[in-house]
Amino acid sequence: MATSWRTPANLGWLARLPGLRRDHPLARLTSFNIGGPAEYFVATAAPAPLVRACQERGIPYLLLGAGTNLLVADEGVEGLVIRCVNREWRVEGRRVYAEAGLKLMRLARICADHDLVGFEWAIGVPGTVGGAVYQNAGCWDGQLADVLVEVEGVAPGGEPRAWPVAELELGYRTSALRAGPLRGALVTGAWIELRPGDGAAARRRMAHWTQQRVRTQPIRTRNCGSVFTNPPGDSAGRLIEAAGLKGAREGSAEVSCQHANFIVNLGGARAADVDRLIRRIRTTVRERFGVTLETEVEKVGRWPSG
Ligand SMILES: Cc1cc2nc3c(=O)[nH]c(=O)nc-3n(C[C@H](O)[C@H](O)[C@H](O)COP(=O)(O)OP(=O)(O)OC[C@H]3O[C@@H](n4cnc5c(N)ncnc54)[C@H](O)[C@@H]3O)c2cc1C
Repeated sequence: MATSWRTPANLGWLARLPGLRRDHPLARLTSFNIGGPAEYFVATAAPAPLVRACQERGIPYLLLGAGTNLLVADEGVEGLVIRCVNREWRVEGRRVYAEAGLKLMRLARICADHDLVGFEWAIGVPGTVGGAVYQNAGCWDGQLADVLVEVEGVAPGGEPRAWPVAELELGYRTSALRAGPLRGALVTGAWIELRPGDGAAARRRMAHWTQQRVRTQPIRTRNCGSVFTNPPGDSAGRLIEAAGLKGAREGSAEVSCQHANFIVNLGGARAADVDRLIRRIRTTVRERFGVTLETEVEKVGRWPSG
């Protein structure tokens, strides 16, 4: 365990944080329901000052949204986990501002209720606005990059920023926050711009897509959504199924029989089980088809080395 940041001043600052918890269980704050505790944990609607202080003080921090794209290590997470629960929003003409902790599904309904269309796809993403910016969430025919105008937050250096969308380097399930110069940045809120349209028709489209999803994906189980991104021109689910891995298990983690790009926690699965299953899938698919699958889910926390 790294100790260099554990100065008396830093430990004193942490101890004085309102609402601070020690060794706080994280599993139940993730859709996988897997993983160890946060060494220090706080849920806040005002994450910016905490992020700035952690950056200045050299305290490791992890930003947590809805925990729907994370595999938290069994040993938990070092430093401070900051769960962003800022959820305000406002509509200004065709533009909508949403704070980072607002759920994308809720935002999709708000947009339809204001007769704004082009965001219906977001009904399929259970994460928050912050998590969606981080990895340019999307599904069916849409992605955040199509509607995003500007993102507000705190840069890795600690300064408050408003990033035009071009600076976010949004790509297929990635961004400058996930894999570029903005690693460690905090999103506090985002502006999207939509088209005026028929809100009732948008709600019908969302209901249709939700039904379709329930039929084709194990969304009522404990999972993290798609485990792997799709390789160019193919689908990870198709490759995993063709490799004969539907139903494959490590401990209590299983490749879904409904959709092979989902791993399901059958109950009591450990992060190490999921990690082993991920490695087995990657190896098998590489050997069978010569394709190296990249993970969409993100491993965080203290993993054993090697
Ligand atoms: C059943 C199911 C279906 C899913 N379907 C889809 C889908 O169709 N399309 C899709 O794209 N994804 C899908 N996902 C994955 C997930 O919902 C998205 O990746 C979502 O964007 C993650 O948001 P989150 O709030 O849960 O982020 P978390 O899982 O909490 O965090 C993910 C990453 O985002 C970072 N982050 C979170 N909040 C902030 C913030 N405020 N500022 C900066 N960084 C932040 C975290 O530090 C972490 O690195 C699905 C997941 C599930 C469980």
